[in-house]
Amino acid sequence: MLSQIATPDACISCGACCANFRVSFYWAEAESMPEEMVEPLTAVYSCMKGTNQSQPRCVALQGDVGVNVSCSIYEARSSSCKEVQIADEQCNKARMKHNMIPLICVEPQDSENNDNFDQVC
Ligand code: SF4
Ligand code: SF4
Repeated sequence: MLSQIATPDACISCGACCANFRVSFYWAEAESMPEEMVEPLTAVYSCMKGTNQSQPRCVALQGDVGVNVSCSIYEARSSSCKEVQIADEQCNKARMKHNMIPLICVEPQDSENNDNFDQVC
């Protein structure tokens, strides 16, 4: 399958995971979030408004998915938001749903011959 190498700023031009899943979390996490952006889900879980519907889109997501996005409550976002990592399974599932190419992570390789040589620059 065609994939694209992930860059650290991939999320800025994506936002797919914020418009694909129900974003739920333990209710107490919502205490640091704006009240109007959260709704109760069960006795102990809450979710981001806009995500508990057939075509989810978190109310905190600003901008256009796949173009330019930001999270208006980034510092206070839930543990569920933080769990999704660039190029992981959830990420790529969301990206494909939004017709974006899946991402792959490429680990930087350690040079094998960087010992015993004087640095020249
Ligand atoms: S789907 Fe992946 S790349 Fe897109 S915003 Fe979420 S974590 Fe970032
Ligand atoms: S709170 Fe922010 S990071 Fe979490 S789903 Fe909403 S827009 Fe995305």
